[in-house]
Amino acid sequence: MDDGSPKTDADWRELLSSEEYRVLREQGTEAAFSGKYWDEKRPGIYRCRGCGSLLFTASAKYDSGTGWPSFYETVNNDAVKTEADKSLFMARTEVHCSRCSGHLGHLFPDGPQPTGLRYCVNSCSLELDQTEASRDSLSRDEPNSSSGEVSDG
Ligand SMILES: [Zn+2]
Repeated sequence: MDDGSPKTDADWRELLSSEEYRVLREQGTEAAFSGKYWDEKRPGIYRCRGCGSLLFTASAKYDSGTGWPSFYETVNNDAVKTEADKSLFMARTEVHCSRCSGHLGHLFPDGPQPTGLRYCVNSCSLELDQTEASRDSLSRDEPNSSSGEVSDG
């Protein structure tokens, strides 16, 4: 398992395919309808391709028609971090894995209820986990990581 320790650029190049590296480490975007999960409908949980951190559940995935996997919510408030990306002609919100800082995709305010959010994520940033253990870890999702901050759900 990944221990969460910082990785060097060389580590990432070894761990990831060239496409995964381009998306996760260089803020790239895969071509629409090209990824393996845009039309994925099986149950399970989606982990970060870079570090295995739990990011989204399949139950929060919906068909946005964009050609990228889309989710209306993350598994919890700490799973991802967002930051404004104003480098392009239009302002977008970047979504990164809060654990390894890998670039996942973008966040848009045009998703379905109850959140009204659309996490537009690259397939190659994700790994679908369908094991029993994954469901178990999801149901026992306790904030036991280091800082001891309070989660108000
Ligand atoms: Zn990660």
